[in-house]
Amino acid sequence: MFAGYLSLYKSGDLKRRIQRLLRSLIRCTLCPRACGVNRIKGETGYCRAGYMICVNTAQPHMGEEPVLSGSKGAGTIFFSHCNLRCIYCQNYQISQLDKGYEIDIKTLAGYMLSLQDRGCHNIELVSPSHYIPQIMEALYIAIPMGLNLPIVYNSNGYDSVSTLRYLEGIVDIYLPDVKYSRNETAYELSNVKDYVDLNHRALKEMHHQVGSRLFIDSEGIARRGLIIRHLVLPGHLIETREILRSIRNDLGNEVHISLMGQYFPTYKGLYHPDLKHPLTSEEYEEAVAILEEEGFENGWIQSLKDINDDFRPDFDSEDVFKFLSST
Ligand code: SF4
Repeated sequence: MFAGYLSLYKSGDLKRRIQRLLRSLIRCTLCPRACGVNRIKGETGYCRAGYMICVNTAQPHMGEEPVLSGSKGAGTIFFSHCNLRCIYCQNYQISQLDKGYEIDIKTLAGYMLSLQDRGCHNIELVSPSHYIPQIMEALYIAIPMGLNLPIVYNSNGYDSVSTLRYLEGIVDIYLPDVKYSRNETAYELSNVKDYVDLNHRALKEMHHQVGSRLFIDSEGIARRGLIIRHLVLPGHLIETREILRSIRNDLGNEVHISLMGQYFPTYKGLYHPDLKHPLTSEEYEEAVAILEEEGFENGWIQSLKDINDDFRPDFDSEDVFKFLSST
C-alpha cells in the first residue's frame, strides 16, 4: 500500500490544496480558535505560531504504539507551540514555553527524508494543527526526492473540520486525543470552551476519511487508519467512561483505542487538587475495565509497572526520550 499523497502529487491536487491552505494563513482560521491574524506577515494568535515553522526535535521514537514504532521507530517531528493550554501537558516545554528553533520549509522536507533514511516506519507529525500549510509545502518538496512513508497526524484533537478536509488522502493514519467529555473540564484544564463539540466533529471527519479499520502490514506496521488516544487523568474516571461510551456510540467498537496510563504531575498540574497526584494503579485498572465493558477489542493498554521516569520527555535534553537508548 503506497502513501496516499503520491497520487495527489501527480495529479496536481496537492499543489492546489497547498495554495488554498496558504491563503487561510492570511486571516488564520486553521484551527477552531479562528484568530484571524495574518500569519504570513508573522503575526501570531492564540497558538503563538507565526509563519516560520518552529520545531523542537525530529527523531525516531520507540515509545509510540507498537504498530507505529515497530523495530526502527516512528519518525516523529515535534512542533513547538499549541492551540490548547493544558495545565498538565507533558510536553509543556515546547507547547507552552515555546522551546524549539525556527526552520524553513526545505529544512523540514530534509527532516522527513532523513527520518526515512534512518529506517523509520512513518512520518509522525506531533502537534501539527497550527502548521498544516507549511507541512504540506515541505511534503511537496520531499515527495519528488523520494519520500513515500505514511503520514501520521498526531494532534490534541482540537482540529477544524474545514482544515482536516484538505488532508483527505494525504494523512494515512490519524492519531487524535480525546481528552474530555465535559466542556467545563476542558475549560478548567485546557482553557478551551468548546473542546468536546469540536473534538467530536474532528473525530467524525477523521473517521470518514480513513474508516474504523487499521490496516497493518505483514511486518506489523500500521499503514492506514485511526487510533484514538485517551490519557486517563487522576480523579476523572467518570469522563473516561463518558468518552469511551461516546466513541463506541459514534464510531463503533472496532476502532483502535490507546488507553494511556502514563499521566504524571507536571507543570501547573502540580498545583491542581486532582492532578498533583500520579494516576494510581487502581484508577488505571478501573479505566481498563471500562474499556472492556464498552466492548472495545482493538488497541493498547499500558503496563504501569513498566512506566517510569524514562517515559517523561525532557525537551531541554539532547536525549529527549531516554528510553530510546535502552531499546
Ligand atoms: S492556528 Fe493558531 S493563529 Fe491560527 S486560528 Fe489556530 S490558534 Fe489561531
